[in-house]
Amino acid sequence: MGNDGGSIPDRRDLVRNKPKAEQADKANQTRARWFFCALSKRKLQEPIVSCALGKLYNKDSIIEYLLDKSAYGDGERICGHIRSLKDVKTLTLTPNPAPPAPENAAPSAERAHFVCPLTLKEMNGLQPFVYISTCGCTFTQAGLKTVSSTQSKEAETQLDVCPQCAKKYSRADDIVALNPSQEEEDDMRANMERRRLLEPPKKSKKRKNTTPEDPEPPSKKQALPGMNPTIAAASRAVVSGLAMEEAKRKAGMSDAVKSLYGSADGKKRKETFMTMGTFTRYA
Ligand SMILES: [Zn+2]
Repeated sequence: MGNDGGSIPDRRDLVRNKPKAEQADKANQTRARWFFCALSKRKLQEPIVSCALGKLYNKDSIIEYLLDKSAYGDGERICGHIRSLKDVKTLTLTPNPAPPAPENAAPSAERAHFVCPLTLKEMNGLQPFVYISTCGCTFTQAGLKTVSSTQSKEAETQLDVCPQCAKKYSRADDIVALNPSQEEEDDMRANMERRRLLEPPKKSKKRKNTTPEDPEPPSKKQALPGMNPTIAAASRAVVSGLAMEEAKRKAGMSDAVKSLYGSADGKKRKETFMTMGTFTRYA
């Protein structure tokens, strides 16, 4: 390498290995995202679910998390946006018809377990994959685009039909990218928050507006003995009001603040696969 008086090392000699290491790290991250549960870091095993941000999880890990939010140390960071099983969709996946790699093969030679039913491309991170949030069927983005573009285009508003199960979906609203890029993920998160603002609050607004004299709802509430229905309704209203405010605050966050959060996230992303929070549990 030099420094023995015979030659002078230049930059290429000194940093030669770096890009290779980065490449390996990227490959590891890709493998982690497509072969392992984003929450438990265990191998993905059906039933597999995905969220509004397109991450892949084992359904049992999500159930575990929902029952006990501290079951995974960094669970809140990874899937704090999952409030119930209604926020995830079980994916309909197509098993890879190719024979699995031999037992002793290197992990990087591992075969994807699933393929796109339209193109038979493997789901290994090399091709963008999407799922339809109404039915959970999973395809390559390209495959689904090809099929849906041949469907009738009479009206933009017309719903498409899933090529696998024939359930209807909206091309604009119901296609979710799996393991999206950071920018895509940011957009998807913003969309998710916007959608949630439109959701009716858990305890309907109707109750908030009902006066104590209103004969119908109180009679229902009196079913709870020992509870003053008016106070109960008022506290519920306060809680849902606070939740709405919080949601509004998040949605109204200025771009500057968002970009701050974005870059903080970006930094986290750069952690290597091996140092990433929960991975040690798997190792
Ligand atoms: Zn389908």
